[in-house]
Amino acid sequence: NSEVILEIQLIPFANNQKLLISRDMTQYEKVDVMRRDFIANVSHELRTPLTVVGGFLETLTDMEGAVPDNLKNYFAMMEEQTIRMRRIIEDLLTLSSIESNTEEPDDSEIDMSTLLKSVQNDGIGLSQGLNKNKHIIHLDADPALNLNGAVDELRSVFSNLVSNAIRYTPAGDKKSGKTGEIFIRWALVNGEPVFSVRDTGIGIEQQHIDRLTERFYRVDRSRSRETGGTGLGLSIVKHILIRHQAKLEISSELGVGSTFSAAFPKARIALKK
Ligand code: ADP
Repeated sequence: NSEVILEIQLIPFANNQKLLISRDMTQYEKVDVMRRDFIANVSHELRTPLTVVGGFLETLTDMEGAVPDNLKNYFAMMEEQTIRMRRIIEDLLTLSSIESNTEEPDDSEIDMSTLLKSVQNDGIGLSQGLNKNKHIIHLDADPALNLNGAVDELRSVFSNLVSNAIRYTPAGDKKSGKTGEIFIRWALVNGEPVFSVRDTGIGIEQQHIDRLTERFYRVDRSRSRETGGTGLGLSIVKHILIRHQAKLEISSELGVGSTFSAAFPKARIALKK
């Protein structure tokens, strides 16, 4: 009951000396656990009533003559908003379960070529759903390189990054002569296995980059909302990557495009036989 959590830092000091700083993080950790539990509980409590409301709305709209023509628009909007709320709640639950999971992630060998092919296909579907004109989504995956990790969690990382690339890249059209392109890459870079997604989209101003993985941080709320965003995707990505000891790097140029990459430790490499 009297567990104390200390954060210890060793800082080089003058004359080859070292300074030891010890910080008592016990209170901070306690509050953080309370915050996580609170969010998880609220999300869980909201899930059922929202499902009921969504269910009734669906029944009413499907029922012949139940909704007068002049109200159909309002019903469609209500349905849309309940779907949005449900998505936010599901993401909050995913985030809190990942954040509070102290167990090591599963360590099975993931067939990366197959997984990324399927992520690419989902991307093509998403692009078609969002726009009349499709993006071109390239995939360049080293066929001999696999990864050890938790497949469900990592799939969510790769899908989130690819779906963001699509959502923040105009698909382009024949008139402008431009086409939105997305490049998915999986390869060894300086000996480390790296997954990256480069897009040719709207880009991100430098001042926002460090804050993108904060919960609900969005550069442009309306664009995020229009394309079905919850503002939680990159927080989920960050936490899954931390669990896999991987580093997330973001580089971007406004109006040119962005690259999001995840560099995994060498120890996670699995070479295909
Ligand atoms: P959202 O659901 O809003 O997309 P995310 O956590 O996935 O939430 O991303 C946070 C914000 O980062 C987005 O709202 C957007 O402003 C910015 N962002 C993420 N990916 C990209 C990208 N590929 N290009 C430009 N902006 C991006």
